[in-house]
Amino acid sequence: MAQDKEMACKDCGQKFIFTAGEQEFFQSRGFSEPIRCKSCRDIRKSEKSERGFSGGGGGGGDRW
Ligand SMILES: [Zn+2]
Repeated sequence: MAQDKEMACKDCGQKFIFTAGEQEFFQSRGFSEPIRCKSCRDIRKSEKSERGFSGGGGGGGDRW
């Protein structure tokens, strides 16, 4: 069983919890561990979508 993990965000230095459930999700998808807290990920995500990438939907699954 995985356990919750405390991580430090690479961008803002804040501690955040990488929960056991998230760890399993990441592993099942073959993602590497997150290095940023949720708010920094959200910021980066919105920056990305502002760059006007308008490709057809469907793929990716890039939620993180
Ligand atoms: Zn952060």
